[in-house]
Amino acid sequence: MIVARRVNASMTRRRFPTPVLSLARAVLLAALVPAAGVSAQPAPAPPAASAKPRLVVFIAVDQMRAEYLQRFKPLYQAGLKRLVEEGAVFTNAMYRHACTETGPGHSVLMSGRSPRSSGIVGNMWYDRTLRQRVNVVDDPAVRLLGSDRGRAASPAYFNAFTVGDMLKASSPASKVVGVSFKDRAAILPAGRRADGAYWYQTTDGRFVTSSWYMERAPGWLDRWNARRVADGYAGRTWQRVLQDPASYLRYAGEDEVQGEFDSKDNVFPHSIRGTPPAFEFYDSLRRTPFADEMLLDFAVEAMKGHDLGTDDATDVLTLSFSATDVIGHTYGPDSQEQMDNLLHLDRTLGKLMQEAEARAGRGKVLFALSADHGSMPLVEILKKRGIDAVRADSSELSRAVEEALAARFPGATGLIADPDPMEYVLDQAAIERQGLKREEVEETIRRALVGTGLVEAVYTRAQLMGPKPKDDPFFDRHQRAFFATRSGDLVARIRKYVYLGGYVGGTGHGSPHDYDRQVPIVFMGPGIRPGPRDVETGPEDIAWALGRLLGLDYPQQDSVTDLVPLLK
Ligand SMILES: [Zn+2]
Repeated sequence: MIVARRVNASMTRRRFPTPVLSLARAVLLAALVPAAGVSAQPAPAPPAASAKPRLVVFIAVDQMRAEYLQRFKPLYQAGLKRLVEEGAVFTNAMYRHACTETGPGHSVLMSGRSPRSSGIVGNMWYDRTLRQRVNVVDDPAVRLLGSDRGRAASPAYFNAFTVGDMLKASSPASKVVGVSFKDRAAILPAGRRADGAYWYQTTDGRFVTSSWYMERAPGWLDRWNARRVADGYAGRTWQRVLQDPASYLRYAGEDEVQGEFDSKDNVFPHSIRGTPPAFEFYDSLRRTPFADEMLLDFAVEAMKGHDLGTDDATDVLTLSFSATDVIGHTYGPDSQEQMDNLLHLDRTLGKLMQEAEARAGRGKVLFALSADHGSMPLVEILKKRGIDAVRADSSELSRAVEEALAARFPGATGLIADPDPMEYVLDQAAIERQGLKREEVEETIRRALVGTGLVEAVYTRAQLMGPKPKDDPFFDRHQRAFFATRSGDLVARIRKYVYLGGYVGGTGHGSPHDYDRQVPIVFMGPGIRPGPRDVETGPEDIAWALGRLLGLDYPQQDSVTDLVPLLK
């Protein structure tokens, strides 16, 4: 800790030259500097300079449940094996926010800010000014680079900074790059000052970026796209990694399970639907472990293209692997498909670690891994375990609300501006114009939602902006997910083990229940003591710790548990 403080003090001095120092800061520095001088005398403290990594590799595994690390531990041979054996593994990590979706999760991971302060309340939300739904990484002011088809994106909506942003502020030679199959998962962890964020384009199988980061696509990106790597998977089938079917039965159960996918393609081997250049092919490719292999291939080029990890100015690479999410949604967490995908991911991560260490040197890379959310098991599997699980269509909720409003306020129209089944934005002007009371409209919607038996609680905006009730453990999760100008006027909480979806099968996430909140957190690298830690933590704590491991004066923000003393 003392060593870290010394680094902080010297960096703070560089970043704030004496004339602009506030009195308080000057007093703080005066207090820290002599302490550092004293601490430099005794020998045993590890030398900070050599412990500082040349490269930070932050790995988000989309929809990775914490139990995946433990359940398949005997089968891992490469990257996941190293993380479990050589890493500090936090086994009791839960998101503290209610909106367990991909956008919010990725926004927290490298920033430490909850949606209540970053504004990233969902993958989409209703923009009251534009009067339409917007995507978390929408930005009409930027151009797409790397392809002439598809949508550009940026972190414009992200009201936060990341570890990478803070690193670049204090060390301008440091580079920060984010990659993923999903735009939001590449963009949000990398941050607002990143040198580049690159994502897969489902329209044509290319990797793209936007003019937020650079004026034109770099040569290495064009050359990589010219290889048409996605097209190379045409005709390939997804086979199981292990030859022995008994292992799959033992660790995952039967291959054919009711409730998987569209009940057609639910046993191995799986073929990729469609052929290039059809959208169906590029979309279907995401549902196989080939997507993560392809991301690795791309990440290696990005590391070369941005020259990451080759000097003492620490660089950051964030990767988000998306196959676990698409496969999890399609087949569920207990499927042979997800098990096999994790065995593929184990190998993919092993290669990633080799590549990163080949560039920066072994012992010079700090790895961290977590996920953006967990997921609910398949309803059909939960039922077999005797759990009262329900698969329902979200239109049930919308219909109940419409009917209740029509019955209570006959002839009234346009009371709801945006009818997301779990979050309702009211049209206040329409309510007033028709001489209605807002509280009565809210209460009618609340009763209708709870009356379906699918929703267990509904909060109003006034409640979420008010004080915490004493006896509601969910309240803080909803409050952390609430951002006044973007959240709904009514926020519903789905009952535990209810899955809302419009498909025949599959499962998902997004609730404040533990199965959606629990994720792995692992740190591995120089100075990190291996072994499990059962302290209560959450992804909100990662950035605060990671920032200070890099010698940054990183603020606590929405973090709760200090992981730094637990890592040594
Ligand atoms: Zn996700």
